[in-house]
Amino acid sequence: MTNPNAILWFRRDLRTADHPAFEAAIKHAAQLGGKVLPVFVIDPVLIQRSGPNRIAFLFRNLRALIEAGVPLSIYQGRPEEVVPRLARETGADVFVTGDAAPYGTSRDVRVETELSKSGSQFVRFETNYIVPPGTVRKGDQTPFKVFTPFSRVWLAHAEGHLPTPRIKLSAVPWFDMSGEIESKIGVPTPIPSDPSGVAEGLPLQGEVAAWARVRTFADRIDAYEETRNIPSVDLTSRLSADLKYGVIHPRQLMPLIAEHPSKGAAVFRSELCWREFYADVLFHRPETVSEAFVPAMNAMETDDGPNADVRFDAWATGHTGFPFIDAGMRQLLHEGWMHNRVRMATASFFVKDLHLPWQRGAAWFMKHLVDGDVASNQHGWQWTAGTGTDASPYFRVFNPTSQGQKFDPNGEYIKRWIPELRDFSAKAVHEPHSNAGLIDYPQPIVDHAAERLEALDRYKAMKGNSLVSAVDTIT
Ligand code: FAD
Repeated sequence: MTNPNAILWFRRDLRTADHPAFEAAIKHAAQLGGKVLPVFVIDPVLIQRSGPNRIAFLFRNLRALIEAGVPLSIYQGRPEEVVPRLARETGADVFVTGDAAPYGTSRDVRVETELSKSGSQFVRFETNYIVPPGTVRKGDQTPFKVFTPFSRVWLAHAEGHLPTPRIKLSAVPWFDMSGEIESKIGVPTPIPSDPSGVAEGLPLQGEVAAWARVRTFADRIDAYEETRNIPSVDLTSRLSADLKYGVIHPRQLMPLIAEHPSKGAAVFRSELCWREFYADVLFHRPETVSEAFVPAMNAMETDDGPNADVRFDAWATGHTGFPFIDAGMRQLLHEGWMHNRVRMATASFFVKDLHLPWQRGAAWFMKHLVDGDVASNQHGWQWTAGTGTDASPYFRVFNPTSQGQKFDPNGEYIKRWIPELRDFSAKAVHEPHSNAGLIDYPQPIVDHAAERLEALDRYKAMKGNSLVSAVDTIT
């Protein structure tokens, strides 16, 4: 049975351009003389898992959609109850952008099952990725475990997808929610105001702001290869939160890359591919949200108890006494975002200098990141911790001081986030305690050289660990 109306259930696709599910909903309604009902469901499970920054960015983007001309009806509750009720009462089929993450996949199965009981179709279109997770395979149809070969096959799939034009919202036959229907299904809820504890420096919401970021980045993309590792300059795209919530689909960035036949653009495309690789890994191995991708690494000894908690607090608040690490953690608290180079350094420090479990650090990132994404975050942590895909083995230990000396040589990034150190010279700012007298900045909470050896010992002590084949270090 086909219903005449079409519910467009927005999730991580908060845009009006290049939106296959939106286009299909309009076409469906036009063919059957029906109307389009755009809805968003505030799912308590997802709200409970998102920190204030992501909740605020989400709500602000919902507001931006409405301001752009989408008459969004918002409901609170479990989607498997809310969406089938809406579909039943309005006589609608339901159109969505597919979700490949573990929770979204199981939620959609539940919604689809409920919808089928009242004869509504659940129609999925693509995903939040250029190539839907699960598509890229080896010749023998097994998934890739290493990025570089994945990226070659991914590229062959990714090329050729072209964005479609923005939807003319004034021409959409919107479903009228007033009157009798509203009394049957309940009055939609207004968009809640921001929760407390939102960081000051969140990106501006909405497609207009996101495309302004794209335009700014277009002037920088050719130099991206050289600039992307320097946290003091703001020269990466800053599109991660837009991509997370689908304010921009990564496919929409492919023309920009094609217009720039530079190494910088190729490296940028490769970063987009990392995002798709991790989504693919999580698609095949959903348990890696909390378990090591390399199962043997689950046996690694980590610390807990009061001393571990003290170390955790120092790390989380940016008071470890290692300036580059503290600058990153303070940026996270202030902006809900941290530069990629510093995400790697702070995560490495957490696992290999503090000996804390990567899952605990990943949870702190997820609480604060405005772009917090379960695939990129858990696997970014696993990569850094040496428990995940690819070749960043556990025995490679970042030096928290020389990372700063190398990637923030003048200490500009450190000084921006740690005002206590602003008067230090470019050289001294990386090791303030060996160069200065009294300052209001903590002593290093650990001895990196000793903790590095401790980390290597723990690694070697893992019984039956076939991974222990060499010991190396990078700085
Ligand atoms: P750009 O350098 O402009 O890159 C463009 C886009 O490519 C990004 O917006 C992002 O979508 C993607 N990308 C870039 N690098 C990576 C990467 N290493 N892995 C996956 N995708 C990438 N990214 C998230 O989007 N959400 C997270 O929760 C997240 N957690 C991370 C945790 C750790 C420990 C590490 C090491 C990395 C994490 N990343 C995460 C990846 C990366 O740090 C951010 O995507 C990037 O810093 C966002 O800034 P940007 O948009 O300016 O990136």
